[in-house]
Amino acid sequence: MTRRLPTALTLAGLLVALAVALAVTVPWTVLPGADPQPDVVRDFTPAQLAREVAFHDALRPAAYANLVLGLAVTALLGLTRAGARVVTAVARPLGGGWGWQVLLGTLALTVLGRLATVPLSVRGETVLREYGLSTQTWGSWSLDVVKGAGVSAGLTALALLALVALARAAPRTWWAWGALATAGLVVAGSFAYPLVVEPVFNDFRPLAAGELREDLLALAERDGVPVDEVLVADASRRTTALNAYVSGFGSSRRIVVYDTLLAQAPAAEVELVVAHELGHAERRDVLVGTLLGALGTAAVVCGLALLLSWSPLLRRAGASGMADPRVIPLVLLLLAVGGLVLAPATNLVSRRVEARADVHSLDLTRDPATFSASQRRLAVTNLSDLEPHPLAYAFFATHPGVTERLALAREWERLR
Ligand SMILES: [Zn+2]
Repeated sequence: MTRRLPTALTLAGLLVALAVALAVTVPWTVLPGADPQPDVVRDFTPAQLAREVAFHDALRPAAYANLVLGLAVTALLGLTRAGARVVTAVARPLGGGWGWQVLLGTLALTVLGRLATVPLSVRGETVLREYGLSTQTWGSWSLDVVKGAGVSAGLTALALLALVALARAAPRTWWAWGALATAGLVVAGSFAYPLVVEPVFNDFRPLAAGELREDLLALAERDGVPVDEVLVADASRRTTALNAYVSGFGSSRRIVVYDTLLAQAPAAEVELVVAHELGHAERRDVLVGTLLGALGTAAVVCGLALLLSWSPLLRRAGASGMADPRVIPLVLLLLAVGGLVLAPATNLVSRRVEARADVHSLDLTRDPATFSASQRRLAVTNLSDLEPHPLAYAFFATHPGVTERLALAREWERLR
């Protein structure tokens, strides 16, 4: 127990630091005096609502089965010796060293989990096509599945390699170095993401010279946000959905709009969407979110170390501790469960930050009518869930619901 005390105290300290950081940085009130009243009947026609409901009724069984099956396979591998056998078997042709066990083991376990859920993903993609949301062929879809699994397995394998190496070098204090190292990886990863990962999936080109580009750059200048270039992603190779986002920070920061948005929305609506992204840029939401994520990741490593000091759990997995690569299947399970358990908290924070960017776009453009038009277009085109179940909202909604956003715009107008 005494060996666990420093880890437990560090975890407690990190959680207090995280709570203070969240209290200070998260915009819990975005529009003082507002009392938004979402009203789906007012904002959408019965036909729009019916189409969205039918789409989600068709998609939901495959999506939830995917989640449950993925967790079940991860649990089967992590809580029996099956996963440990996979880890040792895949590294044997290369000499069976611990480094190969971690790298190839993580890869093999990720691929196994992904293979098990492929039929359900096929079903999900079929529904997207039935509703005209996907523009992919099965060839390009399969390539996406392989790329997605490869990127996620590669990043996870590198982080786990660092943790196992530290546990072998410093058996008593690995968790402290591991917390520092993974926090550093989160910051480096978020910076490099737009440069390294996004190009794996999309091509980006600067928005062509013309009136829209001039207007968007003028909007950024009026906002005091330095923007040299708005990038256009070739999202239409995959989807008909409309979107825009900011990623990276410092010299890697970029504002990206989907080519689908440019093709379908009038210039004023594109400006509204970019004004929202400028809100993220102005408040450095990506950087702040990354630092909060780094703090959270350090806490997760401490929590992981505490769980791995519980010998019945290790015995089940057939591993001796973090220094033993056979622990990888158990660690993958704990991370998957942890991610799910923490999702309502991270989504809550994300929704507040998104609401602030919405208010920013209204303050900047002073055009609630176009704000509402763009929100409706996004929701109808993307078939957004107009009345999400409270549990689905808590676990999966990174943005406020569209009826909430429309109600917020009405309140902005009333309070102006
Ligand atoms: Zn946003």
